[in-house]
Amino acid sequence: MYGQIRFERNPHLKTKPGVQDDLGFGRIFTDHMFVLDYVEGQGWHDPRIVPYAPLSYDPAAMIFHYGQAVFEGLKAFRTANGEIQIFRPDQNAKRLNRSSERLNMPPIDEDFIVNAIQELVRVDADWVPSKQGASLYIRPFVIATEAGLGVRPSSRYSFVVIMSPVGAYYEEGLQPVKILVESHYARAVQGGTGGAKAAGNYAASLKAQVLAKEHDCAQVLWLDAIDKKSLEEVGSMNVFFKISGEVVTPSLSGSILEGITRKSIIHLLNDWGIPVTERKISIDEIVQAYENGTLEEAFGTGTAAVVSPIGSLLWQGTPMVINNGEIGELVHKLYDTITGIQYGRIADKHGWMVTC
Ligand code: PMP
Repeated sequence: MYGQIRFERNPHLKTKPGVQDDLGFGRIFTDHMFVLDYVEGQGWHDPRIVPYAPLSYDPAAMIFHYGQAVFEGLKAFRTANGEIQIFRPDQNAKRLNRSSERLNMPPIDEDFIVNAIQELVRVDADWVPSKQGASLYIRPFVIATEAGLGVRPSSRYSFVVIMSPVGAYYEEGLQPVKILVESHYARAVQGGTGGAKAAGNYAASLKAQVLAKEHDCAQVLWLDAIDKKSLEEVGSMNVFFKISGEVVTPSLSGSILEGITRKSIIHLLNDWGIPVTERKISIDEIVQAYENGTLEEAFGTGTAAVVSPIGSLLWQGTPMVINNGEIGELVHKLYDTITGIQYGRIADKHGWMVTC
């Protein structure tokens, strides 16, 4: 498929961060990257693992003007016995193609994507941190590279994978966050690109994120762009609530990104016999549950943090403190289970982990 992966070893290997160094998120990059090119008529070709280096494109390349770009985010983990395993890369490959389809970009064979990621992780295996909670963040992306200012789908693309060792999201255990319910700005709308991991969605979200910070909130809770009531996502995470023992999460309306953590959590809740429903949830319902004392837990879910407990929601100037601002039992159990599977402490019954 697309030819043999060519390998050009980096002659200038970087100094790797030490075990005690603060890695942060997405600031340090490994020695190599994966690249695959597409030309209309010719298809995807020339797969290669090459030294990590700046990419050079014509200033008229369509990515710079019309934002035809999609991306993914996944992680590789080092287990206690030194093995490296990636969490559900097949799901990221599928989602990358779904995102590409929405932006009229060509699909890539999904097994090929997973294999290319595995190969790249093997080449830079020494970059996978061994410190508890740390991991190797993998960022695949596809960009339009044809030079031209006409607004139409590009005839050329590059698929690139870069990797970054990242520190533990929670250095001192799970931390509940304050969230601003955003009623003015919208992230996405039905029929738009919210269901795709399109670069432009993130550009559109930044202003509200800054506003949230001004209110001393970590992120925003997005509402439906039209009804201004239905809950969508929290920052770049999916959102879950536990109300009277039942777990609910907004159904995939088209404007919500289908998170792989979301999918895994629904799977675990089903395994555990905890009722979980995907449906429309309005902010009024949350306010009501809060007021009558049945709102037990709220949390965001995503690759970066796995779960992020919501300590309070700021809605129309009034904070609603959830579970006394403490970490709920369910969010704890979900965090321990998913990280347990990722780091090989808990048996991977679902076949989610792919070894390198
Ligand atoms: N929603 C948005 C908008 C996101 O960017 C992400 C992160 N990819 C998520 C939800 C969570 O998805 P995942 O669990 O696959 O990381």
